[in-house]
Amino acid sequence: MLALKIHEYQAKDLLQQYGVPVPKGVVAESPSEALKKVGELGEGSCVVKAQIHAGGRGKGGGVKVCRTRDEMQSAVDEILGMNLVTVQTGPEGQLVKKVLIEQASKIRGELYLGLVIDRQKEIPVMMASAEGGMAIEEVAATNPEAIFFENIDPNAGLQPFQARRLATRLNLPNDTIGGFSKFATCLTDAFLAEECSLAEINPLVLTDQNQLIALDAKINFDDNALYRHPTTCELRDLDEENPMEVRASEHELSYISMDGNIGCMVNGAGLAMATMDIIKIHGGEPANFLDVGGGATAQRVAEALRIILSDQNVRAILINIFGGIVRCDLIAEGITEAVQDSDIPVPLIVRLEGNMVEQGKKILADSELNLITADSLDDAARKAVNIVTKEATK
Ligand code: GDP
Ligand code: MN
Repeated sequence: MLALKIHEYQAKDLLQQYGVPVPKGVVAESPSEALKKVGELGEGSCVVKAQIHAGGRGKGGGVKVCRTRDEMQSAVDEILGMNLVTVQTGPEGQLVKKVLIEQASKIRGELYLGLVIDRQKEIPVMMASAEGGMAIEEVAATNPEAIFFENIDPNAGLQPFQARRLATRLNLPNDTIGGFSKFATCLTDAFLAEECSLAEINPLVLTDQNQLIALDAKINFDDNALYRHPTTCELRDLDEENPMEVRASEHELSYISMDGNIGCMVNGAGLAMATMDIIKIHGGEPANFLDVGGGATAQRVAEALRIILSDQNVRAILINIFGGIVRCDLIAEGITEAVQDSDIPVPLIVRLEGNMVEQGKKILADSELNLITADSLDDAARKAVNIVTKEATK
């Protein structure tokens, strides 16, 4: 996990606590629950919105504006339980288990307002654009001058002059400038207090009553700060996360799933990055990033191997361990244990170096397992890439 993601309805709940205006809404996990709760919204049109962590739901059929209760019922029936495919879910899509039903807004204009951390400047930056409703990446690529930026001092928050400057650049009607300043200030307060890594309102709409309201909301939290926010952790929805990554986090392994076919097991984040780079230099594609950590034990090595193997794309596994604090002999024991227990269906290429390396190599040699040993990282990557390319051309 790099950042904790939450659902739109959770983001709106949170933002409302900081004074950001959001539409009135209810959440339902079944059609009967929807029927029971929808009375709270009063008369008039409503919107039924699929709650998944990915964006682009509107274009994928996960957002429906309904004029009547009957239309609402059929939209709920249709969206709950659907496998929603959007540009962000990938072709496999995501199962919809919850819907948010909101009072519909009459839209006069759609804006974009977001906060991110600028890694170069090492501060939060607010971004605003009158080109709301579409992906901001697209605006950045085709019409970059339509995005306005304000650097945020993390100790002082958004300053009133900055909010007014943005409002002017967005050409907002005069009677909405105060509302926009308050909106942007509350959003910044939420971002800073909750230690977010991203807060995005797209679209922020101007209604026919000239009110500004967050029609959509996306919030990610910095996972390094989560220990300070126990209530935020409760918002986590494991159904929305990659199952292999969830399993890895339970074993304190940093694992990120990727698209290639060479599984990687490495100790240390830097060495793991270098391993992925060298695989790529030799023309291969890593299947994952995996850091077994400094204190890798035999059990964790075994669990790491099982997680790597649960990825159906993996055709070879490269184990690259540099023994510093961790001892190569313990790693070698873990490898042999794991290989003996679960019949590993793909070639294992092992490169060990450092603390107790001779003992480690001896354990591997004595095990009579079918392992391919390598003398250097370069040698290991070359061997792994050769194996998967040979297999692909078979
Ligand atoms: P996303 O596609 O996942 O980003 O979902 P959004 O929450 O941004 O909704 C997509 C689009 O649905 C918005 O850009 C609006 O055009 C439309 N939409 C959402 N809520 C309303 C509403 O209350 N009234 C109207 N008229 N359109 C809405
Ligand atoms: Mn949106």
